[in-house]
Amino acid sequence: MSETTPLVENAFESAQTQLRQVAATLEIDPGVIELLSYPKRELTVHFPVRMDDGSIRIFTGYRVHHNDARGPVKGGIRYSTMVTQDEVRALSMWMTWKCAVVNLPYGGAKGGVVVDPRALSERELERLTRRYASEIDIMIGPAVDIPAPDLGTDGRIMAWIMDTYSMHRDYSVPGVVTGKPIEIGGSLGRVEATGRGVTYVTLEACRRRGVSLQGATVAVQGFGNVGSVTARLLHEAGAKVVAVSDRYSGVYSPAGLDVKSLYEHRAAGGLLAEHPLKHEDVTNDELLELPVDILIPAAIEGQITERNAGRVQAGMIIEAANGPTTPGGDAILAQRDIYVVPDILANAGGVIVSYFEWVQDLQSFFWEETEVNQRLQRIITNAYNEVAAVAQERNLRLRDAAMVVALRRVVEAIRIRGIYP
Ligand code: NAD
Repeated sequence: MSETTPLVENAFESAQTQLRQVAATLEIDPGVIELLSYPKRELTVHFPVRMDDGSIRIFTGYRVHHNDARGPVKGGIRYSTMVTQDEVRALSMWMTWKCAVVNLPYGGAKGGVVVDPRALSERELERLTRRYASEIDIMIGPAVDIPAPDLGTDGRIMAWIMDTYSMHRDYSVPGVVTGKPIEIGGSLGRVEATGRGVTYVTLEACRRRGVSLQGATVAVQGFGNVGSVTARLLHEAGAKVVAVSDRYSGVYSPAGLDVKSLYEHRAAGGLLAEHPLKHEDVTNDELLELPVDILIPAAIEGQITERNAGRVQAGMIIEAANGPTTPGGDAILAQRDIYVVPDILANAGGVIVSYFEWVQDLQSFFWEETEVNQRLQRIITNAYNEVAAVAQERNLRLRDAAMVVALRRVVEAIRIRGIYP
């Protein structure tokens, strides 16, 4: 590694590189590429929160709209000490592509607060969330920008945002966020949607590659909402999940993990390190290099890079996290002919069911869970087929093909709408 190579690549630069590489292969107005290289609108807020001990702490938060040519913008809110403005920018751009690749009538957005949610009490977390929601109130709304859960946030946090937004208007606005509890307008199947979508995509990838999922070995990095549901559903579908990890530690058993017990432990709020089962320990880095058939990064971005891509042993990578592979890492995976299903397709199940939730909220008419899951499977599998067809036609890898599908749709929307004024 040269001295100038940063340890963690800048996610926004990665996203811009991906965009420019694919855009260069299409006939797109350079002005439109430039437009899409930057977010449309950004807000940075610094706000005070009264802590339980009476002190005042100042937090920093962001909300970024990347592009709204195809409709209101949509994207999660992340609570993490690693949140930066560039990270949020990258994630907002990836949301534009994700919504377009699965053909939802949305543009891309993202938000985040620099905070470790586990270090706050429940009351502090609520006060932080309500204040952040008030600060970004000017950016969000059911016809404008609809946030959802992401890393470090959940349905409880969405409920506080929905309530805060509604209090400011004197009436209830369930459609302002998705990923809410069912009792206040959430959708059945939303909590599991991203992991379920990743599972449908994995089944489709196996079918296309002639790999049997029965007994196929799987390693999942990140055991949160997405990783734990994916591990559980793949285990139930017959795969052998041999390794999972969270931020602090990982567990490995070549004979297969007790996924059900690990899932229940995590659902009850436990960390993997606190689980009583005697599995071999594995670090987050080691997990990525295990001899498995399928590797599923489901934690954060920038995990598979130039430094470790040469040591990945899996034949197939399903990107459940956003941006887990850097462009440098991806080039090495391409050289090694490792089959990668890119994030904007693989983890789109969450935003697909968020879309269903928003539609149900706007209509005040709610669907049964089987309907939600069937429609999810249809949309994500159709999108996979479309991307695979473009990949074959243009001799591209799935990542570039997914970008081609997404970019064409966004550019066409911009063309039809025209440049104002
Ligand atoms: P989560 O907070 O529920 O879980 C995140 C998991 O990753 C936890 O196990 C955590 O311990 C681990 N983790 C956090 N920091 C880490 C680090 N530095 N190294 C290794 N592991 C780390 O979050 P989630 O909702 O499951 O999101 C995971 C990924 O999936 C993120 O990239 C997110 O953007 C993406 N995603 C989430 C959704 C959704 O609906 N929640 C939808 C699409 C994509």
